[in-house]
Amino acid sequence: MTHAMNRVLCLLLLSAAFHALLLHPNAAAQTDIARVSGAGHDITKTLIADGIYQFTTVRDSYVRQLNSVVVVNESDVLVFDTNTRPSSARLILAEIRKLTDKPVRYVVNSHWHPDHWSGNGVYAEAFPGLEIIASEQTRRLMQNVANEWPARFGAELKRQKAALDKEVGTGKQADGAPLTPEQRRQDEADVSDYESFVAEQTGLRRTYPTFTYADSLTLYHGGREFRFMSVPGDAEGTTVLYLPKERVLLTGDVVSYPIPYISTPPSRHVQSLRMLAGLDVDVIVPGHGPAFRDKDFLNLEAELLEAVVKGVREALQKGTITLDEVQKVVTADELRERFTHGDKDLEARFRERVKVIVKIAVRETRGGQDLP
Ligand SMILES: [Zn+2]
Repeated sequence: MTHAMNRVLCLLLLSAAFHALLLHPNAAAQTDIARVSGAGHDITKTLIADGIYQFTTVRDSYVRQLNSVVVVNESDVLVFDTNTRPSSARLILAEIRKLTDKPVRYVVNSHWHPDHWSGNGVYAEAFPGLEIIASEQTRRLMQNVANEWPARFGAELKRQKAALDKEVGTGKQADGAPLTPEQRRQDEADVSDYESFVAEQTGLRRTYPTFTYADSLTLYHGGREFRFMSVPGDAEGTTVLYLPKERVLLTGDVVSYPIPYISTPPSRHVQSLRMLAGLDVDVIVPGHGPAFRDKDFLNLEAELLEAVVKGVREALQKGTITLDEVQKVVTADELRERFTHGDKDLEARFRERVKVIVKIAVRETRGGQDLP
């Protein structure tokens, strides 16, 4: 299969698993279907603490199980992360208006990846007094990368369309298997979903944070205490938000489920996870995945990173000279089952992700230099 079609298929295979995740025993009660997102999939709303709601977009274009958290205060509202598609943010805003007539005063962007702030403009347009909070590092990264996205997403769409045309033309999938009518419908639906995402991204006027901080910031507001901390997660300068009185922790992609996203040096990401594990919390909402009522998954993610860092160090000290060789010996196999629970598709994703983590860990361990 081509890369593009492989990805489309992955999405399809995963959708069942992700629906199952909504029933994760750790997820809080009171989930109900809010509306259908711009991608044609569900958004769910879960009350996680008094006045605090987790909105999960089951699929928001190229990401799944994406969270946006709404905190209703005495006289206004704070929204943590604003989706991949403005249309999804619009649906969540409509739900906020059903919950309260208070205005949204604050939006928080956990980090610069497009699935966490593409809906900023929806809130800024509706609420002219809005402040958008992020770390200074996040704001800078947004400015450095966002202008390339329309071209990048457009090129990916072109690749996906070409792969689909080839499938339809030959009647075969890229791996040679016959293209069934059902498979064809699914592939066409995925490509058209991506096309509408690209249209939204292309027409988007980027709305950047208006209120930034360096390491930490505490906001006493609306009867609540909000502690913002900038830490390395899946992105540098990721904002985590801790509400000590409510014992709620919103992690952005410092924690992500079911297979963690990792792109900063693993030993620094681990430090963030261990610091968060020391906080007094009842509920943890990751960037992707269900709300957790315990720290099991957070600790498991830390264990994975530690295992890779240790394995890489040992392999390098033995004199291993290629990345491929390190990836063969550092597989974190002993932890795999706890992430995948036997799900074949998740197993494939786990193996691929570990390879990526190994690559980054090698770079970190060698002082910034990759192995050939
Ligand atoms: Zn994300």
